[in-house]
Amino acid sequence: MRAVITGGAGFLGSHLVDRCLDEGWEVVVIDNLITGNMDNLAHRLGDPRFRFIKQDVSEYLYVDGPVDFVFHFASPASPIDFQRYPIQVLKVGALGTHKALGLAKAKGAKFMLASTSEVYGDPEVTPQPETYWGNVNPIGPRGVYDEAKRYAEAMTMAYHHVHGLDTRIVRFFNTYGPRMRLDDGRVVPNFVAQALRGEPLTVYGDGSQTRSFGYVDDTIEGVWRLAHSDFHEPVNIGNDRESTILEFAEAVLRATGSSSPIAHLPPMPDDPQRRRPDLTRARTILGWEPTTPLEEGLRRTVEFFRALVC
Ligand code: UDP
Repeated sequence: MRAVITGGAGFLGSHLVDRCLDEGWEVVVIDNLITGNMDNLAHRLGDPRFRFIKQDVSEYLYVDGPVDFVFHFASPASPIDFQRYPIQVLKVGALGTHKALGLAKAKGAKFMLASTSEVYGDPEVTPQPETYWGNVNPIGPRGVYDEAKRYAEAMTMAYHHVHGLDTRIVRFFNTYGPRMRLDDGRVVPNFVAQALRGEPLTVYGDGSQTRSFGYVDDTIEGVWRLAHSDFHEPVNIGNDRESTILEFAEAVLRATGSSSPIAHLPPMPDDPQRRRPDLTRARTILGWEPTTPLEEGLRRTVEFFRALVC
């Protein structure tokens, strides 16, 4: 098997590269490194089954030889990236998805789109099942990502219906683990780095908003099972243990042994107030279950960040 993984130098993409190579596949990564990092792939660089192409995936994609699977995982994914790279976020979700689908069609390859819980926006339904259509502000600070991913899902289904492409759509909920960017502004690297440095943990608003944190190894296992299924509609992958951001701050303090105080900052505009996946579909169709407790996932994540911070 030979896979193309766009965004393979990113957090999730690089873990998927590892899984594919460990399973005996060949892998071609295409990444322009605006948020990806070659450090995530350094341990694979000498492997003859691994190839890296530095390219913006919103441009025409040319890959030599046969391809069995295209995983479209490229996109900046953090709220500060949406402010920093709004046009690139729109382009990789729209043009990049079109190019990745075109590559899969030309090669007769299967296709998976990495989508997101952000398609649900600030949800009015909780937990969120895949059948929920979402509550998205198209011109808000997150609109570039939410709408690009919604368009990407529509484009993927159109290729499935019109061209008979063998497609899959995974909707990731907040995923954490080693290889997250220390400075990506998201709550996991922010809190862990702040706790390790003895700085205040910056809680936006009163901290009553919720998230449900899925550990990366569980997420990749879900991706792997979905890749081997023949299910074409979106599937949520995450963890359905929901925490308020204040509870999460306390969990980070315990995991780091830090006595940092908590500092409340103004709330983020359009911050989703509740986010928790309904995992019925993943459980039923993939026989998949998140198995890593938050405490264990945080322990491994803290270990990774400790090496960068200290
Ligand atoms: N958040 C926070 N402090 C931070 C970073 C994030 O309180 O330093 C909050 C943020 O407002 C949101 C939640 O943590 O409610 C998750 O934010 P993140 O940026 O990780 O991802 P999101 O799930 O919002 O895309």
